[in-house]
Amino acid sequence: MSERRSADVLIVGGGIHGCSTALHCALRGLSVILFEKDHAGRHASGVNAGGVRQLLRDVAEIPLSIASMELWLNIAALVEDDCGFVSEGQILVAEDEAELEIARARVADLRLRGFTHEELIDARELRRLAPAVAETCPGGVVSRRDGAAIPLRATQAFKRRAAALGAVICENERVERVARESGVFVATTPRGVYRAPVLVNAAGAWGGALAASLGEVFPVETIAPMLMITTPMPAFIRPVVILRGRKLSFKQFDNGTVLIGGGHLGKAIPEENRTILDWRKLAVSAQTVWDVFPIMRSATIARAWAGIEARMADDLPAFGPSRLHEGLFHQFGFSAHGFQLGPGAGAVMAELIATGATNTPIDGLSPARFARAPG
Ligand SMILES: Cc1cc2nc3c(=O)[nH]c(=O)nc-3n(C[C@H](O)[C@H](O)[C@H](O)COP(=O)(O)OP(=O)(O)OC[C@H]3O[C@@H](n4cnc5c(N)ncnc54)[C@H](O)[C@@H]3O)c2cc1C
Repeated sequence: MSERRSADVLIVGGGIHGCSTALHCALRGLSVILFEKDHAGRHASGVNAGGVRQLLRDVAEIPLSIASMELWLNIAALVEDDCGFVSEGQILVAEDEAELEIARARVADLRLRGFTHEELIDARELRRLAPAVAETCPGGVVSRRDGAAIPLRATQAFKRRAAALGAVICENERVERVARESGVFVATTPRGVYRAPVLVNAAGAWGGALAASLGEVFPVETIAPMLMITTPMPAFIRPVVILRGRKLSFKQFDNGTVLIGGGHLGKAIPEENRTILDWRKLAVSAQTVWDVFPIMRSATIARAWAGIEARMADDLPAFGPSRLHEGLFHQFGFSAHGFQLGPGAGAVMAELIATGATNTPIDGLSPARFARAPG
């Protein structure tokens, strides 16, 4: 609860995005009140795979991803915590020649657009970077500066740093209603009424409903990506590995446990903060791991879980000014790949709020791309 009832900026959502925007607004001298209905990092931002990946991003997202990567590489300077970030690279493994050909075309296309972070690798380099990958895989693509971090630790580090710089963080305080009255946003929670000229919708899977309550409808659904983790195994891989054809992302921690994800979905029940796992689909993940990493045939799964996330119809976030209301900014719909973007997105959002513009090209993420009329 806050004694403060007004600020320059109100933020709904205490995931990595809301906390990062709170921090960057505070760094720019803006006063901020952030509301989180549970605790910071309770949802997608605290339970994800921690993949810090520029690799295989949609072209529209690459500039923001690169901007974010610059912050990840020196994250302790920003949040006074290294967030468990390690930069061991991420590799897209091609399972056959046809997949390698697609990878080759993508890397060539990115080069023409001026992006050099993705590099085509042959079977030999693949084996050097990830000796445990099945010998049948002919190569892949590496993004060498990519890596992984510890999601809850990172989100809470952003929250703590934002609070240390003066942002008011109200956890366990749900925004029940937002309205725009005389050019000012009014947010009502069980503890009071708050006002600001700027409202940031960083409400994750609940962001579509918040936008709709202000008359702005987005094509968004709620999903529940699942993860599994094994008991400790001997150390056998450093980079994060992903596949294109079959859904898989794969990472070994320093303690030997192996995290297996890649996008198989359970069922989300956002109104109850709950998910239901789909064990059949998890078995498909396990089979993929069995095929690509023979060493994993002796692995034991310790547990599995899912997180609640918003997926947009085109798999890209709604990021930028509202198409309806001056002072409203959307920052949600990260479609299961928003953790890496968090640090940079907060910086760009604060820049937009403070200056009205940004040098980072984000046009392809604009909420305005959805032409649908208000519902
Ligand atoms: C299992 C899984 C694995 C993933 N793996 C990766 C990965 O490896 N790499 C990657 O880049 N991304 C990954 N992602 C995606 C990433 O986690 C999300 O895109 C990102 O965390 C979204 O952050 P957010 O701040 O937008 O949302 P959230 O973390 O969901 O935060 C939104 C917050 O808003 C709060 N809120 C909502 N409504 C209100 C309200 N009315 N009042 C107050 N608070 C409210 C919610 O309680 C929530 O805490 C994964 C996601 C999942 C689920």
